[in-house]
Amino acid sequence: MINMKKLDHFIDGAFVAPHSEDYFSNVDPATGKEIGKVAAGDAQDIDDAVAAARRAFDGPWATMSLGQRLDALQRVAHGIRARFDEFLEAEMGDTGKPRAFASKVDIPRGAANFEFFATIARAMEESAYQTETRDGRGAVNYVTRNPLGVVGVISPWNLPLLLLTWKVAPALAAGNTVVVKPSEETPATASLLAQVFNDAGVPKGVYNVVHGYGPDAAGEALTKHPDVAAITFTGETRTGSAIMKACAPHIKDISFELGGKNPAIIFADADLDAAIAGTARSTFSNTGQVCLCSERVYVERPVFDEFVDALAARAKNLNVGDPFDDATEMGPLISHDHRQKVLAAFQSAVDSGAEVVTGGGIPDVGRKFAEGAFVEPTIWTGLDHNASVLRDEIFGPVCHVMPFDTEEEAIALANDTRYGLCAAVWTNHLSRAHRMAHAIDAGLVWINSWFLRDLRTPFGGVKLSGIGREGGRHSMDFYTETKTVCVKL
Ligand code: NAD
Repeated sequence: MINMKKLDHFIDGAFVAPHSEDYFSNVDPATGKEIGKVAAGDAQDIDDAVAAARRAFDGPWATMSLGQRLDALQRVAHGIRARFDEFLEAEMGDTGKPRAFASKVDIPRGAANFEFFATIARAMEESAYQTETRDGRGAVNYVTRNPLGVVGVISPWNLPLLLLTWKVAPALAAGNTVVVKPSEETPATASLLAQVFNDAGVPKGVYNVVHGYGPDAAGEALTKHPDVAAITFTGETRTGSAIMKACAPHIKDISFELGGKNPAIIFADADLDAAIAGTARSTFSNTGQVCLCSERVYVERPVFDEFVDALAARAKNLNVGDPFDDATEMGPLISHDHRQKVLAAFQSAVDSGAEVVTGGGIPDVGRKFAEGAFVEPTIWTGLDHNASVLRDEIFGPVCHVMPFDTEEEAIALANDTRYGLCAAVWTNHLSRAHRMAHAIDAGLVWINSWFLRDLRTPFGGVKLSGIGREGGRHSMDFYTETKTVCVKL
């Protein structure tokens, strides 16, 4: 049985201690208190997990029919829902997320991912081609989809269960087995999910978890393992670069969902109330720790002052503090280390000449949370576009608002970045909306909305924001390889 106070690896259907016998501390970022210990995985643990995953891939998982496998994944979805409160508590303990957010977003989406990809996998078609030949008898080619083998899943801390299952569910639905390396900051829900897999009767070795750090530890060992066919990764761009290098010797398939520096563009013809509410959400949701958050906001000059005042009023009114209070809208950052980075960005903005419209410091959240990693929701204006805080991802509850005069200028500013994950455009001008969508370099452009996701659509970024697309059948394309069989008639 699982011990949530001392999280072991999960390998071959059992919770096992790390070879090193080392455990590190898991801290609740809302209180700064230790909530448990976590196994520090290394290359030996990864070897064991990959071997178990390979046995399951060649054995029980391969011999089950597609229908049996997908039924098992449906049971996993039900299992998450049946233990909703345990998942919620585990996710909140690791991240300090407000209950209002985690109970609406993280846990329901974690369960839904299994149901969704089971449905997608059932609907995947294979194709056939008839070919003419000189002898007139012809040939028929048919194309099958085949799983890759053992897939390594490396996930971040910002939406732990949601982003982990976004990759585990399609990988398994396609017939692969997985070794998962969750973020060292947020290990709990990956372990709880292991228990759900066992309870759902999924064969041992199909889902394995090795906890621990990235560089020189479990993460890196997974990327270098010769028996891991593919790595699917969500996290920072610079980590993606290191992983790409580690995967190169074995030419592993990779799918990367990386960082962003996303623009929101507000035209004077927009429904301003909706644009203000939407931008507040896209800046401050999950304490600004969503890869899709807007850190660069551009507003057409005639409505600039009104927009800044209204956004600042919303920022000042946000309830920041106790994650368990249903009125709380913003929790802490993930850790004190991350808070140091965000506070350094706050200082850098001031040094670069920013006007701090609101925030820029540490809020008073009361004695109980005084050791938590909280920062104030923050808005700046007045920066030069070359300021480092406008170039690099901050991943905190902060945006800079800048005026523009023409559509061309807005496009140039939006695209003046090394990243290209997403953008939000607020306008009521139909053709302008489409022009902007085409002109912006990003994997996803929202018009008059943000974070509205249809899971069938391709998701991923351009430039430094990633490689490949996942979502719906695009995930199945990554987690399978096609084989062409040519039959001469
Ligand atoms: P991170 O890159 O620091 O860590 C992510 C994971 O990679 C962790 O499990 C970590 O242990 C592991 N890791 C670190 N170094 C490694 C190495 N050398 N080899 C193998 N594994 C290694 O990212 P984070 O701080 O956890 O997450 C925040 C980042 O994720 C932000 O940049 C954010 O934009 C990005 N993100 C992107 C998306 C997207 O869909 N594009 C979604 C969420 C988060």
